[in-house]
Amino acid sequence: MDRSDVVIIGGGVIGLACALALIEQGRSVRVVDAGRVGGGSSHGNCGTITPSHAAPLAAPGSVAKALRWMLTPDAPFYLKPRFDPALWGWMLRFARHSTRSHWRRAAEIRLQILQAARDALPEWVERYGLDCEYDPAGVDYVFRTEKDLQDFGDELALLDDIGVAYERVDGAAYVRDEPALRDGVVQVVRFPGDARLRPNLYVAGLARAVRERGGTIVEECEVTAIEAGDGGVVASGPDGQFRGRDLIVATGAWSGRLARRLRLRIPVQPGKGYSITYSRPSLVPRRPLVLHERSVCVSSWDSGYRLGSTMEFSGYDSTLNRRRLDALERGAAEYLHEPVGPVKEEEWYGWRPLSVDDLPLLGRAPGHRHLWLATGHGMLGVSMSTATGRLMSELVCGLDPHLDPAPFDPARFA
Ligand SMILES: Cc1cc2nc3c(=O)[nH]c(=O)nc-3n(C[C@H](O)[C@H](O)[C@H](O)COP(=O)(O)OP(=O)(O)OC[C@H]3O[C@@H](n4cnc5c(N)ncnc54)[C@H](O)[C@@H]3O)c2cc1C
Repeated sequence: MDRSDVVIIGGGVIGLACALALIEQGRSVRVVDAGRVGGGSSHGNCGTITPSHAAPLAAPGSVAKALRWMLTPDAPFYLKPRFDPALWGWMLRFARHSTRSHWRRAAEIRLQILQAARDALPEWVERYGLDCEYDPAGVDYVFRTEKDLQDFGDELALLDDIGVAYERVDGAAYVRDEPALRDGVVQVVRFPGDARLRPNLYVAGLARAVRERGGTIVEECEVTAIEAGDGGVVASGPDGQFRGRDLIVATGAWSGRLARRLRLRIPVQPGKGYSITYSRPSLVPRRPLVLHERSVCVSSWDSGYRLGSTMEFSGYDSTLNRRRLDALERGAAEYLHEPVGPVKEEEWYGWRPLSVDDLPLLGRAPGHRHLWLATGHGMLGVSMSTATGRLMSELVCGLDPHLDPAPFDPARFA
């Protein structure tokens, strides 16, 4: 049986960031993934690093909006009408968290980890030689209607209050300076503290850094059982058995399923999103854009171009929905002269690991000494990855944490 100090189940951005931070603390680490590393939600996401997204999804009115949009299959936020007791139970708990006071408190907590991660990212890129097209130039939110701009006012006031810097740019002036955009922009809100990278390259860089520093990554090896005792933990599946002093479950949207085998209830549901990747059009926006009325994110890199987004609650549905993919292109065409690139390279979906309070679960699994959870990052796993890795390494190694871990403690759901 293979043995290491820490076994990490799941090789997405979160599992790999935990692995790297633990190696820095002198621990031997083995990452085990059911597929290829970075093959889950970490693969085709938009790659934006966004303290500007501090306000949680669990917000006043968000459940009512989801219910209203149930009959609009290409809406950006969609709840598929179907019988799924786990999803409806999750929705109910999500609704209970969608209060004004939770919204504010969760935004403050999320900003702490987002900012810590954002601050650490340039150093990680440098130290580990992560060749991932990292660009710290910020992210711009584009508004074409006064109504949407006004509706965003509440969130902007919250962000301002908790210390997220932003600038308002007049729409016409912005379009003069950004030839990729069509006329008709009312205003742009720029978040200069945001950044972007190419996520698949980021994951590949993290995996390489783990291997170069002596960590082991085992791919195509699904873990189907975990036995946790006082002496350590054993993870096993049809293709192997792995023993560790400690074990971290970092299986993203699959975490609830794996945890059920340990009789742990983790309120995490897959929040399905889509992206389309193209070769780079001749005219691309200089910074990543959030096309606000259509909730479409536009990311361009030297190596390509991507439209992404939508939030669909349809359980573990693994089909590519044509209507929702088309909605990305239609939405982008309202804002951009060249909404798509010359060659369509990939159509993709990913399951975001969404917790009911939209805060990640980071810490010891309730009732287990050597079993840890690092999951539930929702829309922000890439953005929170470096700080998550560092915090998990501090907790597992018994060091003073650089962030207050209490709000992330999985025991809040026990
Ligand atoms: C359309 C879209 C756009 C997004 N844009 C952004 C963005 O711009 N910025 C941002 O910060 N975030 C973004 N996200 C969210 C981000 O992608 C996720 O939060 C993040 O990837 C979660 O990482 P993870 O490591 O927890 O999960 P994953 O990347 O899903 O990794 C989990 C891994 O666990 C493995 N696994 C599962 N079960 C088992 C098992 N039983 N045994 C072994 N291995 C197992 C899987 O194979 C997988 O590789 C976006 C997501 C989507 C869908």
